[in-house]
Amino acid sequence: MNDRDYNSERRRFFRIGALSLASLFVLPKIRFLGEDPLAHAQAGKSTAQKLEPVKESDALAKSLNYVENAKAVKTGKRAADPQTKDQFCDNCMFYGSLDKEKGTCQIFQGKTVRAKGWCASWAKKPA
Ligand code: SF4
Repeated sequence: MNDRDYNSERRRFFRIGALSLASLFVLPKIRFLGEDPLAHAQAGKSTAQKLEPVKESDALAKSLNYVENAKAVKTGKRAADPQTKDQFCDNCMFYGSLDKEKGTCQIFQGKTVRAKGWCASWAKKPA
């Protein structure tokens, strides 16, 4: 190896090293450019906070026997089935909590349900 080859290899080594070092700082910023996962999640939650609540009188709610306050239910499908006693939206697998009072439900898309609500589609949240 002559001096010219040696210098060329040395320059190549430092160039690759500098690019590698720069990529450690630049790539993480490019990956999330315009899409900060935390900000995205907070924006989604903020948007969900503005959703309208499901009304018991809505057609889908009626068909699924949805109630806003399951503890107060004294008649109907829920009252008739003792197994439903501990079933609430906040322990249902379709529920996504927004705060301690309400959350989203995969069944009632685009609306919120009460944490202590219930409907006939209740399914146990996996542990
Ligand atoms: Fe509540 Fe679950 Fe029924 Fe949705 S599916 S309304 S979370 S009980």
